[in-house]
Parts: sequence; C-alpha cells; structure tokens
Amino acid sequence: MPKKYHIHTKAMPLNLDYVFKYRIKRGVNCINCGRCSKVCIYEAHKRGETDPRKMAEPNTVVCRNCFRCIQECPRGALEKSLDKDFLNIGGTYWKPDMFITLWKQAEDGKVPVTGAGYRGPFTGPGFDGMWTDMSEIVRPTRDGIHGREYINTSVELGRKLNHLTFGEKGELLSKIYDTVDVPIPIIFDVPVDYMSPNMKVALVRAAAELNTFIALPADAVTPDVEKQIGNIIPRFAQQDIEKYEGLIKKARVVALEYGDAPAADLPSIQNKIKAIGKALIIVRVPATKNIADTVLKLTVAGAEIVHVAADYHGKGINGSADSQPRLIKDIIRDVHLKLVENRIRDEVTLICSGGIAMAEHVPKAMICGADLTAVDLPLLIALGARLYEEPEMMLLLPDGIGKIPGRTIKQRIVNLMGAWHSQLLEVMGAMGIREARRLRGETGRAIFFDEIDQETFGQLFKNREA
Ligand code: SF4
Ligand code: SF4
Repeated sequence: MPKKYHIHTKAMPLNLDYVFKYRIKRGVNCINCGRCSKVCIYEAHKRGETDPRKMAEPNTVVCRNCFRCIQECPRGALEKSLDKDFLNIGGTYWKPDMFITLWKQAEDGKVPVTGAGYRGPFTGPGFDGMWTDMSEIVRPTRDGIHGREYINTSVELGRKLNHLTFGEKGELLSKIYDTVDVPIPIIFDVPVDYMSPNMKVALVRAAAELNTFIALPADAVTPDVEKQIGNIIPRFAQQDIEKYEGLIKKARVVALEYGDAPAADLPSIQNKIKAIGKALIIVRVPATKNIADTVLKLTVAGAEIVHVAADYHGKGINGSADSQPRLIKDIIRDVHLKLVENRIRDEVTLICSGGIAMAEHVPKAMICGADLTAVDLPLLIALGARLYEEPEMMLLLPDGIGKIPGRTIKQRIVNLMGAWHSQLLEVMGAMGIREARRLRGETGRAIFFDEIDQETFGQLFKNREA
C-alpha cells in the first residue's frame, strides 16, 4: 500500500481587513454573563485578556453564522448585520461567499462548515449546474477523510499506454513513456503580475512542500527559486527555447506557449526541447472556439500534455461578440469526447485552468474530462486578495503583502490545498471512487442540470411553442 499522502495544515491567521457576510457586534446592554462564550463552539466570544470581567470584541473571522449566541443572549445584546462591502466584492462568477470560504480555508486548512445550513440556489452557471452522484456516502469503509480504505488522489502527467504489444519471442515492443506523478490533481498557475518577490518564493516553496508544481514564465525563474526547479514548470514561447536551455535541462516538466501555431510544427519543436533535456512538455493553448479540434490535432502531432486555458471566469477565449462564450465545464467535456471518439484519449494528459474557484470544481472538472486542474486566483485570494468584476476586473492585494513573512504565505497556501484535498477525499469517498484518475470523464456519475431540464421540460415547451 502506498504511503498515505498527507497535507500538514496549521492555523495561520493574517491580520487582514476581511470582508464578512455578517459582522457580529456586542451592544452596550451586554452584562458580561459569558453565556455566548459557552454556546459558541467556534470560540468567537471570549473574555477580555486584560480584564476577564468584561467580554472581548467578538471574533467574526471564526463565526459560522449559526445564530446560536444571538438566540441565547439573555439581553439581546448581540447583533449580526449584513456587511455592505460583502455585496460589492466579486461579481457574476466570483461570488462574495467564495472569498469568505477561501479565506477561512487558508486560515485553518479545514473543510468549511456553515452553521445555518445551505440556503442558496441548487443550480447556477458553470460548475454550479452539475451535481455529483454521492450514492456511496453511507459506506463506512469509503468514508472520505476518516475512512479505512486508502483513497489515492494522485494523477500522472504524460502519455499512457492503452495496451502493451509483444513480439514473437515475447519481447516488449511498446514504448514505455516517461510520466511524472502528482499527488493531488492540482498545479499552480498564478498570474505573476500580481506577485511580490516574497510571494513568489513562498508559492514555490508551498508547491515543493505539497510535491506538486507551479508554472512560471521562464524569466520569473530567478536564482532565489531555481533550487526548487523540480517543482517549477518554466513556461516559454517557441522562439525562446535556446534562451532557456539551462532551465529546460534541469526541469522535470516545461510548458510551451503554443498560441495559434500550426499543429504540424509541434514535432520539430518538441524534438528541439527533448534534445536539451528529459522534461515532459506541456503544450499550453487558449480555450478558443475550435479548441477540441486544436487539441485533437496537437495530440495526433505528438503532444503528451495539453493545458487548455480559459479566462479567469472559466469562459472560453475569443468568443464572438454576439455569442455567449462557452464555460470551461462544457469546453473540457467537448475536448475529452473528441479525443475519446478518436480513440486517443490516453495519449495525452489534459490540464484545464480558468474559473477553478472552489474545492468542488476540481473533481467536477475531472468528471468533465480533465486529468488535473491548474489553479490561479484562489491562491491570491488565500492571501487576502479581493477581486471586483465590475465595472472592469480588478484584483487588489492587501496593503503590505510584500512584507508578510514567506512562511506565513506558504502555510496559508498549504492550508488552502489541505482543505481542498480533504474535500476531494470526501467527494471521492461519497462517490465510491478510490483513485482520482478514475474520476476522469465519469459523466455517468454526475447530473447536469441543463440536460435534465431539457429532457424533462424541453419537449413540453417545444410543443407549446409549436
Ligand atoms: S450572552 Fe449576551 S449578555 Fe451575556 S456576555 Fe454574551 S453578549 Fe453579553
Ligand atoms: S453565530 Fe454561532 S458561530 Fe457565530 S458567534 Fe454566534 S454562536 Fe458563534
């Protein structure tokens, strides 16, 4: 049995000006009876450190909105009110609740709990319009984080074999391709424009601790991070191969920005890189309109890993003005099915990025057909970044982020991944799946709202229209 992969989380608060859904306030009529501190299991209410006769200010960061203290206070001294800033952050894709969840996960690495239950809608755009089949949830041996059966979340980068071929004398004829194991189906793909030097070093160290990868433009692989080259994916364009020869030689995986170059050029470019070192090559392409055909052609031309990059809202790129751009969940399904139809799905590893905002998006992207995901903005949000989608996209990092100790940043990223890993285990346990790679393309184990809506009501309304 393989050694159990474990992510070591540790509480790592940041003294940030967070935005909360509700702010909790203690009124002047409080008689300091301490009842609220007894009923709040999250320890949001504590006695003052200097004067224990008085209650300290409530700690809204740890509050889970169960409203128990409000109900139990004999004086009605506690009040929870909607925070106006809460409604302003995010936008149509990045919902305000997502920020609070990501901040909390980075704070303690735990699976978030909401005390008042879920009262939101049960469907929505993108990954919210898809539900996973959790019919195995009652089996104790497959009980997620606490289960007795080992659930393996690792995936492989690189080409796999469909079958082995042997010669007349029993000799192996098939070429065994090199692969690289990643213990979680997540790599980092942070936009470097937002990174201060301390953030870059800390993110690289977090990737190394988690034994995953961080993709960085090759010119950002500076000497202060180069010793972790085993966990860095240097990214470069075709014309810069010679310039980054030294890095390519040392790296385990590299990424080639492919843009719209013809697939027929790929073999000679890959040969040039393979002549320098042994690194696996990711071909990174934007999720444009004809992405399924593009990935098919690249795979036929010999791509071993393709990274399909959507925008930060999980939408396809270059959608014409009069048509709605497709969402990453539909794009990945389309690409995956195209490869399956052409019987070459195992010849390529598919990474998807853009719009992977919450832990549950990772297994959902895999069910749609991705082998693994690349995460971008959640890593910055874990460090307290706020995103505003309107009137135009703006990402604000907290003041003084450049001075936060690297170990704090690293631990918050490790915590975030710890929480996501635990949730992946829970989903897989509930689905009865013990190998993350088996999630890939398992659309039969998911329900897509649009499809059942169409199946159930589509015919009815079509007839009415007629
Ligand atoms: S329960 Fe009410 S009165 Fe008692 S300490 Fe808490 S806020 Fe004050
Ligand atoms: S609402 Fe619930 S979690 Fe929040 S402070 Fe009160 S008792 Fe604690």
